[in-house]
Formats: sequence, C-alpha cells, structure tokens
Amino acid sequence: MEQLVDEIAALRRRLGEAVCVMGHHYQNDAIVSFCDVTGDSLELARRVPGIRARHIVFCGVHFMGESAALLASPEQSVHAPAPDADCEMARMAPAAQARATLERLRALGRRVTPLAYVNTTLALKAVVGEFGGAVCTSANAETMLRWALEQGDGVLFLPDRNLGRNTARRLGIGEDEQHTIALDARGLDPAEETRPGLRRRLLLWPGCCPIHDVIPADAVRRAREAFPGCVVAAHPECSPELIDACDGAGSTSYLIKEAQRLAESPTPPVFVVGTEINLVNRLAGRLEGRCRIVPLASDALCPDMAKITLRHLRDCLAAVEKRVAVPLRVDPALAAPARATLDRMLRVCG
Ligand code: SF4
Repeated sequence: MEQLVDEIAALRRRLGEAVCVMGHHYQNDAIVSFCDVTGDSLELARRVPGIRARHIVFCGVHFMGESAALLASPEQSVHAPAPDADCEMARMAPAAQARATLERLRALGRRVTPLAYVNTTLALKAVVGEFGGAVCTSANAETMLRWALEQGDGVLFLPDRNLGRNTARRLGIGEDEQHTIALDARGLDPAEETRPGLRRRLLLWPGCCPIHDVIPADAVRRAREAFPGCVVAAHPECSPELIDACDGAGSTSYLIKEAQRLAESPTPPVFVVGTEINLVNRLAGRLEGRCRIVPLASDALCPDMAKITLRHLRDCLAAVEKRVAVPLRVDPALAAPARATLDRMLRVCG
C-alpha cells in the first residue's frame, strides 16, 4: 500500500497540471486523498467544463465517467481507472426497453416527458433527449420534476422509483397520482395498457439503488432507541417509508452540509446518516470531537464504487503518462441527444 501511494504521488508530480483526478464522495479515503475534485454527481458534472487539464481521471462508476466525457472539451480525454465499475441502478434501465416503453406510451395517447436520474447510461440519456426529456440528480430532483410536469400531460421518472416517490411527496403529488409501471423484457407490459394507473401524472420505472433500497425503515426506530435525541437523515434513494421516519432527507451534498451545521451547533446531537458507508465514515472522521456521526446501515457499501483501488489509479496514471491509456469514448450518434438532457438540467437549475 505504501509503495502504491508513493508511486501515485510520483506519477502525479510528473504529470503535473496535465491531469485532474476527480472522485465521487463514495470513493474510499485512499482514493479521495489523490483527488483534485470531489463531489456528488451533480457537482462533478458541473466542474468538468471548468477543468483545463488535458486528461481527466474519473474515480466513479461508469455513467459518471460517460457524463464527464460528454461534457469535456474535444481536446480532453477522460479515463476510468476501473472500467467494470458500473452502477447497478443504471443497468436497471436499458435504453432499448425505455425507448419501447416511451413509444408505446405515445401510441396510447400519452404526452409523457421522460425524466432520468443522472445514474443512467449515455444510451438511456440519449433516448430521454430524443423524447424531449432531461436528467436530474438527487440534489435538484424537485426542480426538475416540477419542470417536467409542465412539459406534457405526465412524466415517466426513471430508473429510481424511490427518488421519484420521495420527490413527488415533497411536491404534494399523492400516491393516487403515481403509478409504478410493469415491464416485460422488451418494454411496457401489455397488461398495463388497460390499467387506470397508466393514465396517472407520474409514472415510475421499477428500478432502485440496491444499496439504499434495502436499508429497512425500522433502522430509524432502532437508531432513535440507541441514541436518544439523535438527528436522523438519509439519501432519497431510500424507501419513502424510511424517509418518512427521518428528520431530514437529501442529496449527498445536503447530508454533508447538515453534518457540518450540526457540528457547529452549541450542543451537537448524534447525527445518524443513511447513505453509502464510505461517505459516512469520512464525515465521522472529519468531524470527530465536534459531532458524533453514526451510520444508519454500516453495511451500505456500493460494491461498484469499491472496485476502484489504488492499484487501478496507479495503472491508469501510468498509462496516461506512457500515452497508452484508452479514453472513454462517446458514441457520436448518442452525444447530441444525451448532451441535450444534461444541458436542459443545467439550464433549468441555473
Ligand atoms: S450507490 Fe447505488 S446508485 Fe450509487 S453507484 Fe452504487 S448502485 Fe449506483
């Protein structure tokens, strides 16, 4: 480990300003210590156009690297240290299945605007772009859902039904205005076509983040018993039942800001945080002695984020130095419609 750290440090020194290492908050501390930029998916996407380095080494799951490649200038190259680090939620919404579903909804007379969580493949984003939709992140889902609802007679929110339901609740959209669609391998399950639910304002794709979705709502009650007076907050990829039991919910950035706010209060309570464990542990370390941070689920580790190791980072930087690194490629046919979805988000959210 020490040798790897030394090798990466030496590579970074030699490459100088030619390389920018970006990393998602769910990366482990060793990787984060080498990142020039850290953030959640929205923050990272926003930072890409301002980066001047010739090479971006992106420590995050595949869809995040794809978004960076899409937003980078033509002279820049984006590299993924572990190309097999994919997001399981993103895999739950294949582009072909989404396209067939949207086409069928149109054929049935619905003018539905697709709104895709940023945790989706470039191919899915391109389909959403073709159908006039946009992407959103957990930080701006409310703004984007409000925007999407104004575009037609309904919204297809995909792939995270939990984020869709939690966001709908915040906007006062009742359960009777929502419907989670059923799919078959090709697209919309034909049995859906006669169901009244299909006429509702908000249609939800039946996907989820397997890391957040499995945290049981009961964990909040157990945390309150273990830490009387604690404050509990969780990421909106958790179930609405869990979010209902919390004191607050929001994006990764919100959870970080909330921890800092509580740490600055005169008598900081125990802060119980429901999200990926790397972020919770890092917050706990950073605020040690000022505010006690406890994970709501200590096993909430994203195995795909964890695929990126120091060895991968070292090998990726070495390949960049030797000019043999293979950059992430954006299919030109997908670039324009996918970019349109990101641009719409950045425009609507300012
Ligand atoms: S935590 Fe969930 S949404 Fe995030 S990368 Fe892992 S599987 Fe995907």
